Amino acid sequence: MAYQYDDQNIFAKILRGEIPNDTVLETEHSLAFRDIQPQAPVHILVIPRGPYVCFDHFAQEASDAEITDYVRAVGEVCKMNGLETDGFRLIANAGHDGVQEVPHLHVHILAGRMLGRMLA
Ligand code: C5P
Repeated sequence: MAYQYDDQNIFAKILRGEIPNDTVLETEHSLAFRDIQPQAPVHILVIPRGPYVCFDHFAQEASDAEITDYVRAVGEVCKMNGLETDGFRLIANAGHDGVQEVPHLHVHILAGRMLGRMLA
């Protein structure tokens, strides 16, 4: 099944500047901003600017430049927040079973406290 991107999703609106956000990093192909309902002292979302629904859609269809930019943006946000000291967690929910709320790829960066053990 091919992914269908809904350009009315809330992160698409953020990328178009229609909805405000608390930006922490902007790169050519990516944007990082603070989650509006933080689950940890550091809770930042990193999204690609391109129209990708979830991680595997991105991995299959994004250019090498977009993928490199995105992975480096995640790394840069970790560095900016000094997360190498105490660690962090990355989460990328996908689809129904992954309980993805917003259908635009986003990695959650969670840090700043010891997180619960979480495999499901
Ligand atoms: O992974 P999932 O799709 O469930 O997460 C969506 C995240 O987007 C939530 O953590 C929510 O708080 C966040 N969000 C946001 N800004 C919005 C809408 C949602 O940070 N305007």
